[in-house]
Amino acid sequence: MEAGAARSSCKRCGSCCRQGGPALHSGDAGLLRSGSLRREHLVTVRRGELALAPLAREPEVVAAEFLKVRGQGGDWCCMFYDHATRGCTIYRQRPLACGLLDCSRPEEILAIAGRDLLTRFDCLAPDDPLLALVREHEEQCPCPDLGLVRARLQAPDRRQDTLHWLTGLVRHDLALRSRAAARYGLSVDLELFCLGRPLFQLLAPLGVVTRESAAGLGLHLRPA
Ligand code: SF4
Ligand code: SF4
Repeated sequence: MEAGAARSSCKRCGSCCRQGGPALHSGDAGLLRSGSLRREHLVTVRRGELALAPLAREPEVVAAEFLKVRGQGGDWCCMFYDHATRGCTIYRQRPLACGLLDCSRPEEILAIAGRDLLTRFDCLAPDDPLLALVREHEEQCPCPDLGLVRARLQAPDRRQDTLHWLTGLVRHDLALRSRAAARYGLSVDLELFCLGRPLFQLLAPLGVVTRESAAGLGLHLRPA
């Protein structure tokens, strides 16, 4: 990470940037106000999702939603990371967490991890029409606790019921997104900010494969 270049201990390997963009903290609000960071640059990580905390090895269930700089295509690598130069393209406007991350001295980043995080609601004015969409989605399609989902999928006697239940949730989530795209003219980037990632994408790391067929959308578990 170029952010670490000022630190003698940072070897600029880029590993931290490639693992994912930073979560945003209240200290980053100025970057949003100035337009250095825009909503299209962000993805909402919703309560119930599984996410990797800074320097953690295993994902944990998210207790409260937060915003994160989105990845590159289907990859978590921070969208502002330049592979060719192994540097940050927004170095002077990089978020707070990037300036604090030093993998050889994790105390500073760990001290702010999970604290004082910005959410969608910090970026939506009370009269923003997208606010109603965010609330409708949260009410109708809350993200299930994916830690519990994972446990249920691992229990042979609960697997089929769980897949059946998830199929209904995935269909409902996709239908709402499709209506929202038409009603609000949402780009895919803005959808990631407003609604987070679709449930079927969140289930993929748990081994759940989503397929569309003549019979409609169906879910099954990838063979071990
Ligand atoms: S902070 Fe650590 S992981 Fe990040 S670029 Fe520097 S050496 Fe690599
Ligand atoms: S904003 Fe820059 S420093 Fe921070 S993770 Fe992305 S590329 Fe790395």
